Amino acid sequence: MNSIDEKLQPILAQVIRRNAGEPEFHQAVHEVLESLGRVVAKHPDYLEQALIERICEPERQIIFRIPWVDDKGQVQINRGFRVQFNSALGPYKGGMRFHPSVNVGIIKFLGFEQTFKNALTGMPIGGGKGGSDFDPKGRSDAEIMRFCQSLMTELHRHLGEQTDVPAGDIGVGGREIGYMFGQYKRLTNRYEAGVFTGKALAYGGSRARTEATGYGNTYFVQSMLKTRGADFDGKKVVVSGSGNVAIYSIEKVQSFGGKVIACSDSSGYVVDEAGIDLALLKEIKNVRRDRISEYARIKGQGVYFVSADKGSVWDVPCDVAMPSATQNELSGKDAARLVKNGVVAVGEGANMPSTPEAIKVFQDAGILFAPGKAANAGGVATSALEMQQNASRDSWTFEQTEARLASIMRGIHDTCFETAEEYGAPGNYVLGANIAGFVRVAEAMRMMGVI
Ligand code: GLU
Repeated sequence: MNSIDEKLQPILAQVIRRNAGEPEFHQAVHEVLESLGRVVAKHPDYLEQALIERICEPERQIIFRIPWVDDKGQVQINRGFRVQFNSALGPYKGGMRFHPSVNVGIIKFLGFEQTFKNALTGMPIGGGKGGSDFDPKGRSDAEIMRFCQSLMTELHRHLGEQTDVPAGDIGVGGREIGYMFGQYKRLTNRYEAGVFTGKALAYGGSRARTEATGYGNTYFVQSMLKTRGADFDGKKVVVSGSGNVAIYSIEKVQSFGGKVIACSDSSGYVVDEAGIDLALLKEIKNVRRDRISEYARIKGQGVYFVSADKGSVWDVPCDVAMPSATQNELSGKDAARLVKNGVVAVGEGANMPSTPEAIKVFQDAGILFAPGKAANAGGVATSALEMQQNASRDSWTFEQTEARLASIMRGIHDTCFETAEEYGAPGNYVLGANIAGFVRVAEAMRMMGVI
């Protein structure tokens, strides 16, 4: 790991003490503090005003019981979370994650990252995140509905289109958002379309929202490549994951002339040198909800599957890597192998997919590296566009929405690039993203006094 300015070390020590046993949150804070030494040297008032400490402490954390009855009539208990991290720039905004690994530390790391990501978009949204340790795998539609309704019976009192606006994340897509929004509407007796984003088009969703995170990451990598006079054309690309972010990254990379040769799920990865057949991948993942090995089985000759215990998708040589599965999926060893195999650019589609060791390997090798809080901001930026459409009771075309997304992503790229130059670290997108995101939040907080 890189070092933290000594003036900032007590802040990290305090975060670790206060949030014991939450390694992902410590990691996310560590990574941001590494970048802020150069900021406090320029703005000592940020330290005097305790702005960094304040930003590291969530404004509010809600933890609640979610009781529900499964199809066998058994009572099940899950734990629900909503961490309302920072509202300096707008209502709390960030997704809900349903995954058995969810705990308060994971939600806190995600809410912390979200605060800076949302600031980078330039849209009026604060940062928050929520979720549950509920495992949707193998659950019937009726079980998912009862679970979402029970969750919302508690959560609704903490939400509002001017207060806190959730969306999807891992395990939460259009179906779950529909059930949660429906229950919110019923409990509050208000049709508050802007209280949720990622809604279906039928009731106030935005075109291009589903595609936005993957498309956005691809636009970001395209901008990075351009700084070195390169583009996607003819490049070999590996995208990890096969959820929403991965699928729409593959779609956009292919439209830019890149060749995606591998993708994965938690069971393993597939390699198809002819280029991933996206229609088949969508059918397997979105319709059949099946494992990725099905892809190799159906394709047959020349296409192979490697199970997760036998290797990692990062073993596959490529020019561009787009980790789009989950946190800490790409280790220092994976990064070293990617560099040895000639990778030139990495764009994080997931939140914090590269470990600190991996980031260091990429940076030492001088390759283009885009951190998730910048590269995957297209999803939440399009959520803000959805809120805008809801507020004006309007609905934009796909082209109009995608054009806004593309220009927002170019803006984020340029902000990170220029901020890195301004702070004496040209080409360091991690530093650029952390500083630019932090300064936007800190400035707004400074003006509002000690709150
Ligand atoms: N979960 C997504 C993210 O990590 C989207 C959040 C949103 O649209 O509010 O940014």
